[in-house]
Amino acid sequence: MREFEYVRAAEVGQAVATVTGDPRASYLAGGTTQLDLMKDGVLEPDMLVDITRLPLSGVSRDGDTLRVGALTTMEELAADATVAERLPFVREALLLGASVQLRNMATIGGNLLQRTRCRYFRDPAVPACNKRRRGTGCAAVTGAARMHAILGADEHCIAVHASDLAVPLVALDAIVRVRGAGGERSVPLTDFYLVPGDTPDVENVLAHGELIVAVDIPLPPRGTRSSYLKVRDRASYEFALTSAGVAITFDDGVIREARVALGGVGTVPWRAREAEEVLRGAPPGQATFRAAAEATVRDPYTVPGTAFKVELAKRTLVRALRTVAS
Ligand code: FAD
Ligand code: SF4
Repeated sequence: MREFEYVRAAEVGQAVATVTGDPRASYLAGGTTQLDLMKDGVLEPDMLVDITRLPLSGVSRDGDTLRVGALTTMEELAADATVAERLPFVREALLLGASVQLRNMATIGGNLLQRTRCRYFRDPAVPACNKRRRGTGCAAVTGAARMHAILGADEHCIAVHASDLAVPLVALDAIVRVRGAGGERSVPLTDFYLVPGDTPDVENVLAHGELIVAVDIPLPPRGTRSSYLKVRDRASYEFALTSAGVAITFDDGVIREARVALGGVGTVPWRAREAEEVLRGAPPGQATFRAAAEATVRDPYTVPGTAFKVELAKRTLVRALRTVAS
């Protein structure tokens, strides 16, 4: 690993000023992505600003909003009583992500900003990776691409956004609270991530130095049923091939409100608004669920390694919907 300067931030404003002032500085939270990529030579910052001592952890409730500090760990959020009671699919997504050791280190801010698991991105010996270096090409399009995206993808980049947590949070319209040199701003998570297009190296709307300080999660109405289904090659310690997060409110035998998102298939956590439209006002059942799935996975971009995901994603969504309806 290349040498770098280590700074432990004592205060939020100092952390933001330090990283903003140095284009080659990065934040360090749990380090479970950042340090891996530095050891592999993918990231080579000159300075790491450790934010783990900042007062940005903990979960609090303000009416029907849950405020989650950016440094809350995945395990802490999964253990929160309101999450268990009102947001079961958030809890499931957290517990199905990584191992307990990792969940005790990894933070919510870091999880939302984790980098892709694309093997070519993580191997600097492979020259063609537009995400590492714009304009070099994409090795995955002609290479091994089982873990890659079919939605929001094109020939420039087919890397999946691998966060499980982001899937239910996108479905819930969570808000990311960000602190930059000019003050604080709020960004809906649905607008936070950027599909690659011809700039796969730009993954989200954060300016350099902007710090996630919290995530606000609106609680769905009481009685809403939710589920997160993750399909993967082995039962634990593995990223999703496909996943679906669904939250449904039923009323008199019909679906009153539906929130749906997919994981493992999108270059960004994929909000399935077309599915929600099909579901709203319809009776729950196989025909409705399949129609919702068909509406969502439309115009996929596939390569031979990812073609199987088209049907798998649809079946994953149908199964998640059956779970909440049963
Ligand atoms: P760090 O590694 O410290 O940071 C990640 C990035 O975010 C860095 O670029 C850092 O600069 C930036 N950053 C961190 N916090 C902030 C902030 N508050 N504001 C601005 N920038 C910030 N996750 C899943 O969802 N599903 C899985 O199945 C899964 N499996 C895993 C398996 C393995 C083997 C590993 C190592 C991890 C797995 N994870 C999984 C966890 C996930 O991939 C990330 O490693 C983790 O969530 C990152 O959190 P962190 O706090 O360690 O972030
Ligand atoms: Fe790089 Fe994206 Fe292609 Fe992977 S899919 S090699 S991250 S450009």
